[in-house]
Amino acid sequence: MSQPAPPARHWLLTEKRTPLPPPGRGHRPVRKLIHLGCFLVFLALPFANVMRFDIPRQRFYFAGFEVLISEFAILFFALMFLMFVIAVVAIMYGRVYCGYACPQMIFSEASTAVEAWTAGLARRWAAGPRARKLLGRGLFLAILAAASVFLAFVFMAYFIEPRDLLHRLLRFDLVSTGGILGASVTLLTFLDFTLVKQAFCTTVCPYGYFQGLLQDRHSLLVAYQDPAGACIDCRKCVRVCEMGIDIRKGPYQIECVHCGDCIDACDEVLAKVGHPGLIHYSWGGAAPSGAAEPWYRRWGLRDPKRFVILFVMVAYLSALGLTLYLRKPVLMRLTPDRTTLYALLPDGSVANRVRMNLANRSPRAVEIRVWVEGLAGARVLLDRNPLTLAPGAALERTFDIAAPAGPRELNPIRVVIQSSDQAAFDAAEMNFIMPTKGN
Ligand code: SF4
Ligand code: SF4
Repeated sequence: MSQPAPPARHWLLTEKRTPLPPPGRGHRPVRKLIHLGCFLVFLALPFANVMRFDIPRQRFYFAGFEVLISEFAILFFALMFLMFVIAVVAIMYGRVYCGYACPQMIFSEASTAVEAWTAGLARRWAAGPRARKLLGRGLFLAILAAASVFLAFVFMAYFIEPRDLLHRLLRFDLVSTGGILGASVTLLTFLDFTLVKQAFCTTVCPYGYFQGLLQDRHSLLVAYQDPAGACIDCRKCVRVCEMGIDIRKGPYQIECVHCGDCIDACDEVLAKVGHPGLIHYSWGGAAPSGAAEPWYRRWGLRDPKRFVILFVMVAYLSALGLTLYLRKPVLMRLTPDRTTLYALLPDGSVANRVRMNLANRSPRAVEIRVWVEGLAGARVLLDRNPLTLAPGAALERTFDIAAPAGPRELNPIRVVIQSSDQAAFDAAEMNFIMPTKGN
């Protein structure tokens, strides 16, 4: 006999089973504080211009510097540094980043908390199970829709200047590329934090797979150790796990994000029978030895490989800092153009040609003046001097330097260029060539 079909459910009533909330003591409060700090940093970075890859303006804002996308060295060192930060954290601390600082985890847990809160409200406000579920789900989806617009706005502010973004949002721009991208990110955010949540970490997250490749026998893990058979099989460690795994089956489960909720749960349960918890943070899954270790081993520097990779990371950071320190807001280069050695002008003076390359990397327009030192009567033949360079503009130009004819064939001169605010200055030593006697 065939089984009767289960009753049809309204899509608003579809919800996943929420794991047991873990105890409010132990690692959980620390992790929530770190989540809050990370969320504030996530908000502050684009709005304070600390970090933004501004696509419309082709600028990279980093630590107060406004860098042109063409400034390869800075971008290279920044990307290499970030890559090594990820590698160092993954090798030394495993998936601790996932549990403590990843936006996907932070917002997934926040979404679960909102879901539980709206369900609680609905239980108080509505009568009957169906009405409660509809109200709870409706409230949850409405809050998530508003939160998705806000989160997508912050995310897009990493690529588009926030005021420009706000104008697009207020105009309800669904026509320009930025507007369509913003709407798509909002929709994806909404679907992610209502339907996917932590399932993202165990299925498609590239960092999860990457971390699995980098992890070795000294990486930090969450491990279950029970040599004395003290486990009472209460399964609380399983029921609090948002990733839906049983850590007792082994520490190398790819789904484990090292959040520590199972540690807190086991500590709480076994404290009631006077026994220490059976789950711990542990380097490579080894049981805690109780012996004192030097500070560098306690910080995760447990073999030479870790010192080397940390050294490379610091080297890239130093190179990035040095490149930013040496960076000139206005780039100037002068080279003599020897296509012709000299030219005779109608007034009898001699002209030498110079090639000039300028690039204004600053956010302001600058005025640049050119002059010559070291040769009496020498003057620069530019139609405009000083000349104005707009923010982000580059200029390549040749111009003549003229001087009265003199007795010496080679005359050392110094061509100087300086911006009006005196922030940029450059000088080129070269020879001014005069005709030889008899020419
Ligand atoms: S097994 Fe423990 S540490 Fe790992 S994800 Fe689950 S609760 Fe977090
Ligand atoms: S919480 Fe601790 S005692 Fe309970 S099942 Fe998990 S490991 Fe065993």
